[in-house]
Amino acid sequence: MACNSNKQSHYQKLASKYFPYKLTTDLSGLSQNQKKMLPYLFKVADIMDSLFWEVAADGYQSMIESLTDKYAREYFYINYGPWDRLNGNKPFLPGVDNKPLGAFFYPIDMTKEEFIKWNNPLKTSNYSIIRRDDNGKLTAIPYSQAFKQQLQRAHDLLLKAAQYADDPDFKHYLQLRAKALITDNYFDSDTAWMNMKHNKIDFIVGPIETYEDQLFGYKAAFEAFILIKDTTWSKRLQKYAPLLPQLQKELPVPEKYKAEEPGSNSELNAYDVIYYAGDCNAGSKTIAINLPNDEKVQLLKGSRRLQLKNAMKAKFDSILIPISKILIDPSQQKYVTFNAFFANTMFHEVAHGLGIKNTINGKGTCREALQETYTTFEEGKADILGLWLITKLYQNKQFQTNLMENYVTFVASIFRSIRFGASSAHAKANLIRYNFFMEQGAIERTPKGTYKINPDKIKTASDSLARLIITIQGDGDKQKAQKILEKYGNISPILQKDLQKLDSAGIPIDVRWIQGLNVLGLNN
Ligand code: ZN
Repeated sequence: MACNSNKQSHYQKLASKYFPYKLTTDLSGLSQNQKKMLPYLFKVADIMDSLFWEVAADGYQSMIESLTDKYAREYFYINYGPWDRLNGNKPFLPGVDNKPLGAFFYPIDMTKEEFIKWNNPLKTSNYSIIRRDDNGKLTAIPYSQAFKQQLQRAHDLLLKAAQYADDPDFKHYLQLRAKALITDNYFDSDTAWMNMKHNKIDFIVGPIETYEDQLFGYKAAFEAFILIKDTTWSKRLQKYAPLLPQLQKELPVPEKYKAEEPGSNSELNAYDVIYYAGDCNAGSKTIAINLPNDEKVQLLKGSRRLQLKNAMKAKFDSILIPISKILIDPSQQKYVTFNAFFANTMFHEVAHGLGIKNTINGKGTCREALQETYTTFEEGKADILGLWLITKLYQNKQFQTNLMENYVTFVASIFRSIRFGASSAHAKANLIRYNFFMEQGAIERTPKGTYKINPDKIKTASDSLARLIITIQGDGDKQKAQKILEKYGNISPILQKDLQKLDSAGIPIDVRWIQGLNVLGLNN
């Protein structure tokens, strides 16, 4: 008995790491045709979902039937199999083998050496799976053959969906994507996707990211996002692009560090997601998409960044607010708002286009010069310049906001980011900022163990930090970058204690979706 109830609470505890959240949006702006189209997109997305199960947990799906504990079942669905994605893919059910590094894209008895020695032009394709033939020899099967029936059905459904597309560019994309699924050639449809500008609905579908293949990173996993464009925010963002050259000139750095023309070959828009299926629905949920991955298309057309507004809201409600209730001083908690969180995130993206890309002393690009430290500094730059942009635009009366909300929300986010991946570039950039702000008095820790933001000091500290980062980038000074990391990139014992408080309070790590046509009220 005791053992049993212990086990129950064990799975319950695991499942509670993901906060359940309803994925909805305002669909009143959709046309009749668009509403008729959506069910077809959901069906295609469900096919992607079942194909993802096959490569992520082949042979394990039936385990679900033997699971009597409802939380164990829930965790199985969240992880698409019996391995815990928040815990290095270790099995969370008894008697389950370790997950193969290459998931089920490869035969489980295949070694890396065997694959490397094998001579086959299709073996590294993003769109082939590897199996053994009757003689036990490796063979590469294109997705279009390996999953022929399902992909043919997805193709047919996409063509039906295309019939309801009001937007000609979207129709064209859906038709080409349908073709891609049965030919394994995604170039034309990726290009068509880049050409879409005015469609209210977007549909990302197919084998896309290669993270599920941790053996080689070759094999793309099936997924789908159904998205509804947030036209208000998208228009607002377009307004700021032309202001960037002037803002670049106002950066708080010496002339030589701001001589470049600011630029970005990526288009930025805001969306609500109404469905995650397959790869993107497994484990942690993304709040931003940057596609396509095909470098040939990127060179030709640039790329698109999609910011997922309702997914951000989910994390804001279920993670950021509970964090701020514990770590932000009660007198300032009211300044933690979603509008500020979203604006900070959007301007982070815009700010990537500001600053400097090439060193001023012939060391090549900043990326080349700073090597493995580059990402931390580039992300840190975008964070701090995002806040700087908001302050500037507010002062120039080009953006309406309550700056205090942007500042306090910004600081609350620091804790969220540090907590969710101490080894990532994002987390390191946040640690540097936390320690720098503490040193400069921009934030202070009260005797009660909460944090108070000093709005005047945060402005000057932000300018100093922006200056520090941009000069390191412009000088390509890797040594200095490493020194800054050593000085500011550590979790102090007191911060450790604060982070522990969040864990003991059981604040979720991520979210899981309650989603589908039903949730949207679209079931007919
Ligand atoms: Zn970024």
